Amino acid sequence: MSDDERTPLPLVFDEPVGRRKPPRHLAGCTPDERVEWVKELGLPGFRAKQLATHYFARLTDDPAEMTDLPAGQRDELVGALLPTLMTPLRTMEADRGTTRKTLWKLFDGALVESVLMRYPDRATVCVSSQAGCGMACPFCATGQGGLQRNMSTGEIVEQVVAAARSLARGEVPGGPGRVSNVVFMGMGEPMANYRAVIGAVRRLTDPQPDGLGMSARGVTVSTVGLVPRMLQLAEEGIPVTLALSLHAPDDELRNELVPINTRFSVAETVDAAWNYARVTKRRVSIEYAMMRGINDQAWRADLLADVLLARGDWGWVHVNLIPLNPTPGSKWTASEPADEREFVRRLEAKGIPTTVRDTRGREIDGACGQLAATEA
Ligand code: SF4
Repeated sequence: MSDDERTPLPLVFDEPVGRRKPPRHLAGCTPDERVEWVKELGLPGFRAKQLATHYFARLTDDPAEMTDLPAGQRDELVGALLPTLMTPLRTMEADRGTTRKTLWKLFDGALVESVLMRYPDRATVCVSSQAGCGMACPFCATGQGGLQRNMSTGEIVEQVVAAARSLARGEVPGGPGRVSNVVFMGMGEPMANYRAVIGAVRRLTDPQPDGLGMSARGVTVSTVGLVPRMLQLAEEGIPVTLALSLHAPDDELRNELVPINTRFSVAETVDAAWNYARVTKRRVSIEYAMMRGINDQAWRADLLADVLLARGDWGWVHVNLIPLNPTPGSKWTASEPADEREFVRRLEAKGIPTTVRDTRGREIDGACGQLAATEA
């Protein structure tokens, strides 16, 4: 069946939904678009690069610090190209301040979250790509509220730049530092906002001062399995890590846990993940949230290994098990430790590299979107 012949997918949008679009911002433009924009303002094109240097390399948006710009033009340039995209409403800390979740209010009142997690050897920012989410996974708090709108490239990038500023200014314990990793695992389904997400990935990985200069290997894009977009991502020529939130190896259960599965089956989804690994030579991460009595049976571990091994030897994939927060009385709660250990043992016995995600920021519900799960 061709993609067009399928039922239209009302959950997938490529443009911001809602009547008003977020303000245009330097972070949402390519370097060429910035030059054109500055020229439209009647200013010399090289001002665009100067402003990008302040934003991406010096991590400042304060006109007073931009002493290489003529004093009379600073406010106009900053006001036009670096408008305020988001305002922090609340910041919560855990792990002695090394995990910080920020609740942001966007220009239209939409709320999103990002989380900065600092480790001894790296600093990871988990970003949102949509306000809300239309994928309706029943175990996920974000999914229960539906989709409000897609975020713009600028809004996605700004979450990372804000975290980079905090680190550079030494606001996070451990001394001044840099963002080394970005994971698109916050609110939203990144592949349902494909164009803005790819724009953000390019801004993150463009060399400074055109972008943040991060390694694509430090960027992970997650998906619940929008197969056409997974195939498209493989052709982008950006070797990001793909994380597929599978959560069940069989259609019967996955149709319930991840409703998009009724459109793209486990077989089609895993094929697309395997294709990504084949084309990009990047190992795919299979995310599997362990839910007590729902998807954590030993036989499902065996089936998961078989489904993955059917595409090729284990070298193309690894499994990342995600412990849910224990939620007494909830249908969606954490697996028993013994069941989790047995699940790991079975996968490893079949040769599948398996990790259990650390539970950073658990007390602040730090793992947003994909995992907001737990507090539903
Ligand atoms: S788990 Fe992810 S894809 Fe599913 S509803 Fe939540 S945020 Fe959306």
